[in-house]
Parts: sequence; structure tokens; C-alpha cells
Amino acid sequence: MASQTGAIVQQSLNALMGDEAFLPNLQEQAREQAFLSLAAILSTPNKVHKAFLRITADSGNVVRIPAYRIQHNDTLGPYKGGIRFHESVSEEEVTNLAALMTLKNALHEVPFGGGKGGVVINPRQYSAKELYLICKKYVQYFSDVLGPDKDIPAPDMGTGEREMDWMMAEYKSIHPGQPYLGSFTGKSVINGGSLGRREATGKGVYFTFRYMIHDFLKAQSSWLSGSDNPFVQTAIAHSGRPLTIAVQGFGNVGSVAALEAYKCTYLHNKVTAVSDRNVTLYNPDGLSIPALIDYAAQHQGDLPVTEDALASLGLKAQILGREAVLYLDVDVLILAALEEQIRKDNVGQVKARIIVEGANAPVTGEADVTLSSRGTIIIPDILANAGGVIVSYFEWLQGRETQFYTEEEVHKLLYDKMQKTLNGILPVFFGDPHPLRQNCYIQAVMKLSTMLYRQGKLY
Ligand code: GLU
Repeated sequence: MASQTGAIVQQSLNALMGDEAFLPNLQEQAREQAFLSLAAILSTPNKVHKAFLRITADSGNVVRIPAYRIQHNDTLGPYKGGIRFHESVSEEEVTNLAALMTLKNALHEVPFGGGKGGVVINPRQYSAKELYLICKKYVQYFSDVLGPDKDIPAPDMGTGEREMDWMMAEYKSIHPGQPYLGSFTGKSVINGGSLGRREATGKGVYFTFRYMIHDFLKAQSSWLSGSDNPFVQTAIAHSGRPLTIAVQGFGNVGSVAALEAYKCTYLHNKVTAVSDRNVTLYNPDGLSIPALIDYAAQHQGDLPVTEDALASLGLKAQILGREAVLYLDVDVLILAALEEQIRKDNVGQVKARIIVEGANAPVTGEADVTLSSRGTIIIPDILANAGGVIVSYFEWLQGRETQFYTEEEVHKLLYDKMQKTLNGILPVFFGDPHPLRQNCYIQAVMKLSTMLYRQGKLY
């Protein structure tokens, strides 16, 4: 497991080891041994599958493409997690992301374990036909370890419903006569996907932030208002007034989170900046997110980069470099692009006091410590971006029953599930001085540890 996740899991185990109310039957040497076993289990994946996918490119050349499926832990259920198509994919990265899935599912009580896949390509450089061959080969090479009750992939960066449809179809032809709807989630609705899955991660990201800063704080103001906890003070300072919001990343997560913020008029928030791989657009008076979404839909997902393109939309904005979004003077920064965006070397320039992790691991461990020591609230990935896997779970259930819910029902179920997690975690977070990430990890590790202990796996 890469250092950041591993270090926080270890810190969580250390905290739990000293908490005598946790697994009280385990005493002295047995307790020490059990915690060493837990550290060993959680810090390593159960299985690492690697293949070199052989495809014939459009040029006629045969190429070999490195691909992974990493199965971290299945204590809670079948392995579950997306498949990423990106040129920076590596075994270390996929392992870390698989571990995050284990913790994310445990935190939100989704009955799945954690897994992740990756293919080392820049999908923009491949034709649709080549991508189709890559998807088919991925399923062929890993077909023995995938399946509705074994390991269920989903979209991640660089993949979407098109790829999941192709993969499910390949799974179906390799396993004739067997259930296949639950083999992949994030499929198109016509192919057994769930209504509301595409928007689920972005909606969940915005909901998490809104629920914490608005609904929860309002309902709990009587006991929170006297607190000298720095995180409570930051939260209170941002509650009950209009907030400015910047969103890094304008893909499936960032654009939906930005739209949710834009539409949430009863809070009078203003989305003042959005960014993508080319540009940051900034207007302190607010940006029209629907106009930008329409533009991106017609331009391969890219935001406008020229004054003329902005003028054609009737928009005014400063056109800044793509990193500028991180350093703007805003209240809230939603990170929905890549990992490691806020690091030791640039954390000093970040002004937002509330950071929401829509992407996985966008704030490094060192930057997290610096920000937390300033009282900045970071709503961590495993809490904020679980909407995708939660609705994947609903998709898997619907596929089993071949009974499908309406979009409204799906989003209601999503918010209910996230609210339940938040109602469990927020009183603990606001009641003690640890950052929210640490609280979430402790909660997830507690659940996994208790199950492993009761299954007799710690001896
Ligand atoms: N790739 C998404 C994540 O990182 C969704 C995973 C899923 O739906 O299984 O959470």
C-alpha cells in the first residue's frame, strides 16, 4: 500500500490499540498480536493480477499494453472498484486505490471489498476500435478472477459506460448461461445500468459538503457553538452565509459537483472558478455552469480556452493557467481531477478553508498535516466521493432482481446512505481534535477489524 493510505491505517490501528473499549476481549500479548495481524492484512493486497494485453493497433502493429487488477481485501464482500485508463497507472498507484476502496466501502457499509484496475494508456490517443479491443482483452485476461460474486469493476478515470458495456458483453460471451448483469457496474441504462449512476459521484460530493456545513451544523448548533475545536470554528465561520466555490476538474465528477453547487440556490453559493487539463476560468461574480457543461459536451469534454469562445457563450471570465484554480481566494475548493494536487511544495499557496476530495487522494499526507494544523477542513475521498460505488451497489442489486428504480429513488437512496454515514462520523469529528480523514479511517478500520476478529482471522 502506498505510503499515505498505509500511514493513516497504521495511525488508526495505533489509536484503536490504545482504546480498551475496542475489542475488550483481546488483552496484552493477544491484543498486540491481533493488531500486528491487522496491520499485515490491511497494508497488503490479497492478490495482484498483471497482464500485458496484446492488441492489433489500427496501424496493423501488434502492441502489448500493461494492465492490472488488484484485489485488496474481500472481508466485506466481493472485490469492487473501478478500472482506470491513464498513462500514469502503476502497480503502486492501483494498489493504493484498491486499499482506498476497501476503506470507502467499510466506512459507508457497502457490502463489498476493495479492488481496482488500471490500464497504462492515454485513451485520447486510441481510436474507438482500439479501445474496444483493449476492453475485450482486459476481460479475457482477467476473466477467471472477475464476476458478480467475485470482483465487480466499474468506471474510473478514462473509462465510462461505453467501456463497461463492452466489458460486460465480453464477460457474457465467456460465461454463457451465467448471470452477467452484476459483473460490471456503471453500464449504460439500456444495458442494465442504473438511472442516476453517471451523476452519483458528483452529486454525492456536493451533498457531503452541503450536509456537513449546512444541515448538520444548523441542527447541532446548540452544542457546537460553544466549542473551541478549530474545525468546529472553521465550519461555523462558513455556515449560514453565501460561499464561493472553485472546482478543479470538469469531468464526470467535477462538472456534476459544480452544477449541483450552481443549482443549490437556497444556499446562495457561487461557483467562481472551474478548471480542466488546459485552463482555469475565474469570475468572482460566478460562472454559468450549465453553459460550460453544454460547451464541454460539444468539445470532447474541454472547457473554452479563448475570449472568443467565452464570448460566444455570453460568458465573462479570466482565463488562467490550469493550476491557478488551487490558489484562488475562495471559501471552498473541490478537487475532482487527479491525485497529489496539493503537496508539500504548493500547500502554502492554498487559501480555501474547506477542501472536498472528489478525486481519490488529491491531497498528500504532508499537505494534509499542514492544512489540518491551520484548522482547514478536508472532507476526505473515502467520505466524499463514495456516491459512485454506493450507486454501483444499487445497480448490482437491481441487476440481481431485474427490477429497476427511478432516478429519483436512486438519488434518495444515495443521500440516505451518505447521510447515515455522516450522522455517525460528524459528531465524533466535531467532538475531538483529529482531522476528519483520521476519523473516517478509524471508523472503517474498526468495522474491518471487528469482522476479521469475529471470523477468527487474527490468530
Ligand atoms: N471508480 C469509482 C471510485 O473510485 C467507483 C467505483 C465503483 O463504482 O465500483 O469510487
